[in-house]
Amino acid sequence: MKALLVDLDDTLLDYSGGADRSWVEACGACCPTSGIDPAVLVATIAETRRWFWDDPERQRRERLNMVGAWQHIVEFALERLGRSAPGLAEAVARDYGVRRREAMTLFPEALGCLTDLRRRGMPMALVTNGDATQQRDKIERHRLAGYFDAILIEGEFGVGKPETAVYRHALNALGVAPTEAWMVGDHLEWDVGAPQQLGLRGVWMDRGGRGLPPNSAVQPHRIIRSLDELTALAR
Ligand SMILES: [Mg+2]
Repeated sequence: MKALLVDLDDTLLDYSGGADRSWVEACGACCPTSGIDPAVLVATIAETRRWFWDDPERQRRERLNMVGAWQHIVEFALERLGRSAPGLAEAVARDYGVRRREAMTLFPEALGCLTDLRRRGMPMALVTNGDATQQRDKIERHRLAGYFDAILIEGEFGVGKPETAVYRHALNALGVAPTEAWMVGDHLEWDVGAPQQLGLRGVWMDRGGRGLPPNSAVQPHRIIRSLDELTALAR
């Protein structure tokens, strides 16, 4: 391992952990004046979220403006319920964004891993998809910039993973060939399969230990459950 590309959400940062609770709290805070039962809205939002993010084209478009995406999710949920509540979707989305931001924390071993790799002089690039404002805020709030030689955010760069240009740009910034670099992340296609096709080694972060899906087209070079295992791999 001569260089490392690292994903942000659900690899370094516990991005998904606070989502369910934040929806419950946001609906609880915003619903009372609308006459809509918050529990019913939360349940409908849960169904709507899966449907909303499952469409790859919509996902690609909407992830560049997350507050807008959350508002659209609530609007679709209200539509499913056949309810009209002016201003509610926007209020819930904003409230949810604040709660979600508060709930996000780095995984406990993340800074130790980055510090160790940095101390050993490992060139590193952070490669993350999504909304420029949100991703930049996460990086600043959790003081991650100092660990990386390059930071690629989809919303700033113009294209995201799994576009080849993203990995190539990161490798150029680090001054290494694809075969000298590894990438780690929780998304099988974006963080493992696509980089492997370019010649990088792909490490899949499987925190939940669920294992590969049956007949997975992507076969990671390594599967890890914690960044401590990555620190050991880099030795
Ligand atoms: Mg991720």
